[in-house]
Amino acid sequence: MKKTFFAIIIVFFFRINAFEISEIDKGIFVHYGIQQDSNKNNAGDIANIGFIIGKKSILVVDTGGTPIIGQKLLQKIKEISNLPISHVVITHSHPDHFFGTQAFLAENPKIVGHEKLNRSLLSNFNFYKNQQLSNIQDDSIQEAQLVKANVLIKTNKTKIIDLGERFVEIKAWETGHTDNDLSIYDKKTKTFWSENIFVKRTPSIRASILGWRKNLEEISKMEIKLIIPGHGKAVDKEKAIKPMINYFDRIIVKLRELQKKNKSLQESINIILQESILEPSEVNKENWILFDEYHYSNITKAFTELEWE
Ligand SMILES: [Zn+2]
Repeated sequence: MKKTFFAIIIVFFFRINAFEISEIDKGIFVHYGIQQDSNKNNAGDIANIGFIIGKKSILVVDTGGTPIIGQKLLQKIKEISNLPISHVVITHSHPDHFFGTQAFLAENPKIVGHEKLNRSLLSNFNFYKNQQLSNIQDDSIQEAQLVKANVLIKTNKTKIIDLGERFVEIKAWETGHTDNDLSIYDKKTKTFWSENIFVKRTPSIRASILGWRKNLEEISKMEIKLIIPGHGKAVDKEKAIKPMINYFDRIIVKLRELQKKNKSLQESINIILQESILEPSEVNKENWILFDEYHYSNITKAFTELEWE
């Protein structure tokens, strides 16, 4: 009896402490974040992060929501390969994606970001630090340093990085999820890694619904075998993009209709809220998780944007 009890405790301990990584294609490793908002139980481990290994060096994609997550990712890389880490790509300025960057500084990598990344990091870092601290309650966040990118990519431009018999294209997008979104495209496997994609989890509109929609259209024309989203499991292109476009289109159509009737933001929210109480499956057709947490802020953001059309 006693033995079983301890065995259970040990299994449980390793499960919460395990930092799992999956090789989803040759040399492409993903650590899947938990599909939740950051809190004490998930320790801020909510975003997909990982790395790509070439013959010569390694490129890291995002560093996680706390310094501890950054360290765990670094440790995992060291277990798998002893090649140098030449690049750390910060896909955008949301705290679940970059609070672990300092763990990589000793490796002396190039830190790659969108031309608008540093400005956003500088103005939001302290706010995000307090937010991460109060949500996650992990003391390592106190020690988090602001690490700026030192290789910047201009909007609509692409930078090709040679990792040794493996070319990776980093693209800086026009405003979508944020105004500093970067994607990573591995030419060898046609894998596309983008925080602009949310699978199963409600996409959170923080910058522009129209811009984001346009970027999704552009992505859907690319030759892509597999998409690694910012949140959710890796899936094929169709499965990743269709639900997002459908969701955005419903919001756009609905808000344009309400604005035509001169409804204010508050009136529109009330109407949409009523509808979602009466017909929840119609409002959340894609069955997004964290829907109530993000849908109404999406409406608010989109309403202001569409109002100015
Ligand atoms: Zn984000």
